[in-house]
Amino acid sequence: MSDRPLYNLEAARGSGQLERMRSLEAEGVCIFCPEHAGRWQREPVEHTGEHWYVTRNDFPYEGTAAHYLIVARRHVSTFQELPDAAGAELWQIRRELAERLGALAFATIERSGEMRLNGGSVAHLHVHMVALEPAPAKTVRFRVSARAERDPA
Ligand SMILES: [Zn+2]
Repeated sequence: MSDRPLYNLEAARGSGQLERMRSLEAEGVCIFCPEHAGRWQREPVEHTGEHWYVTRNDFPYEGTAAHYLIVARRHVSTFQELPDAAGAELWQIRRELAERLGALAFATIERSGEMRLNGGSVAHLHVHMVALEPAPAKTVRFRVSARAERDPA
C-alpha cells in the first residue's frame, strides 16, 4: 500500500461514515481489501470470485431498493489495472445479482482513478450496483466529479 490517502473525506455522506473513514485512514486500513472486509464492514461478503467479491453497502443510498458493492479483490484504484477476464467476471456477477434481486431496473457505476476528481470515497476499485423501485423515497444520485464550488454541502 502506498502513502497516498486511502479515503476522500469530502465524499463522506454522513457523520458515521466520516468518523469510520477518519479512523481507518489513521490506522492505514483499507476497508475494501479482503483481509479487512470481515472486520470493518458490517455487511457480510455474499460471494467471492477470482477478481471480485460482493457485499451490500454498509451505507446504502437513499431511494434504493438494494445497494450492492462489487469490490476488486486486489487493492487497485483503476479498472486498467485488472485483466480483461475481470471484466467478464464483473458482467457475470452483475447478471447473477440482477436475477437474484429480481428488480425491474438497476444502475451501476464505478469510479476509476483519482478519487478527489471522481467523487469516490475509497481508493480501492469498486462498482456500485443499485436496484431501483417504482416509487423511491428519494431520487438516487451518484456524484462522479470533484465537488463544484457552487454545490451545496
Ligand atoms: Zn484496498
